[in-house]
Amino acid sequence: MRYHDADEATPIIAEGSSQLQVLSGEYQLSKNADDFIDDPGLEGMLNHRVDPAEVRDVIQQSLAKVPLTVAQCAVLLNATDPDLVESIFAAARQLKRDVYGNRIVLFAPLYIGNQCVNDCLYCGFRRSNRQAPRRTLDAASIRAQVAALERQGHKRLILVFGEHPYYSADFIAEAVQTVYDVRQGHGAIRRVNINAAPLDHAGFQKVKEAGIGTYQIFQETYHHATYGQVHPPGTAKADYLWRLDSLDRAWESGCDDVGIGALFGLYDWRFEVLGLVSHARHLMEKFHCGPHTISFPRLRPASHAQWNSRWLVNDDDFRRLVAILRLSVPYTGMIMTAREPEKLRSQLMGFGVSQIDAGSRIELGGYTEAGDAQQQRRERQQFELADVRSLDEVILQLLVDGYIPSFCTACYRLGRTGETFMEFAIPGFIEKLCTPNALTTLQEYLVDYASPETRRLGEQLIARELAYLPDNARKRDLLDRLQRITRGDERDLYY
Ligand code: SAM
Ligand code: SF4
Repeated sequence: MRYHDADEATPIIAEGSSQLQVLSGEYQLSKNADDFIDDPGLEGMLNHRVDPAEVRDVIQQSLAKVPLTVAQCAVLLNATDPDLVESIFAAARQLKRDVYGNRIVLFAPLYIGNQCVNDCLYCGFRRSNRQAPRRTLDAASIRAQVAALERQGHKRLILVFGEHPYYSADFIAEAVQTVYDVRQGHGAIRRVNINAAPLDHAGFQKVKEAGIGTYQIFQETYHHATYGQVHPPGTAKADYLWRLDSLDRAWESGCDDVGIGALFGLYDWRFEVLGLVSHARHLMEKFHCGPHTISFPRLRPASHAQWNSRWLVNDDDFRRLVAILRLSVPYTGMIMTAREPEKLRSQLMGFGVSQIDAGSRIELGGYTEAGDAQQQRRERQQFELADVRSLDEVILQLLVDGYIPSFCTACYRLGRTGETFMEFAIPGFIEKLCTPNALTTLQEYLVDYASPETRRLGEQLIARELAYLPDNARKRDLLDRLQRITRGDERDLYY
């Protein structure tokens, strides 16, 4: 059986094959894992009548930037009165401004391979989808995709993998290195994150050594019974605890930059929010540092998906969940992907989102091969995207809305991660480091890649931002860097 096939569909692994058994052997390790998700306890916190005064107290605590307990988060979830919901939205907007300012960090996903031994009922890459062409990018194809992304102006990628013995830690590490090595003109990928199946300790050490930024994994659903229903028994992913424990293993192996997430629409969104907050608090308590990011993807239509959920999240509830997550974990970055449509993305940016993808293509080879028509080719993608604007279109809209599009990668490259570094807890951090880094990376984009209209609006925004900065040596240094970038002789000047 071949696993490395650049162009053709490869056979789907048969259940009971030796490859699957290798995985089963590993995931039995989850016996030692700590199950910190207490389903009856979480369910018991929901559906209570709340006292408005209690809701306001909880809001005040989040505005003081103190992470909420799970019970406090439940108070916000139980607040359904329109006035209280509006207070939650207003607080989320304020906290976003206070903690993150108006920067939005941009990235793109790069799908490396869609071979998968699992059969997650909601996913287009599930092994029983025999219509999905299976493909793994080889080094040359990875280089071609990365070069295309660099030509658009991207600096940060997340590599995405199915779960398959072929996608070992060595394979992932090699893919990461291949990406870092590609250079197109002034282009370079400066931060490579990964979203891949759970690894063991040795695997996490390997990918850390390869220089990954964030290791991201979604629990999909924190609700044990639903988890069992959507991940059929006998598949590697059926082991809830092996997945739940994966970020503990990552931390124990030196990956101190991790991202959590839930796939909203599999079960009650309020329960999933409590699951995410429980997970964040577990990491904080055990490793003295919460997750770097939280993702809250909503279920999208997918080829051959077999999960007709009664828990799909409507837009109103989605706004509530984003705002409540923002208030519950003030120092955690929040990622909203192109699964969401343009208008909702623009609106929710103000509620606390700090990172978005742009110009995304989730078909294997999609950045070079098929053009926009591929968006109609459902069977080639893991699921359908809702926002397929180009990177330049997204940046233009961010500028119109008054945000600073940022490609900054400074913290990770200067070792400012994990417990030793709570970036936003440091007074003046945003003003001294984040804003200047956002502006220099934006300037690079404007000079090297932007359309004329984007460049015009971008330069206006930079001038406005500079006017807010106090006139001191730091500002003069920043001006000097911006001019050096415009003259075209230097790049990657970060604080
Ligand atoms: N195969 C790895 C895994 O399952 O952990 C890598 C992740 S998968 C390629 C990326 C994520 O896409 C999954 O964790 C899941 O949350 C999400 N996903 C899968 N099917 C989806 C769908 N129909 N709509 C939206 N997101 C989906
Ligand atoms: Fe495979 Fe991940 Fe899709 Fe599940 S979600 S079928 S593990 S690619």
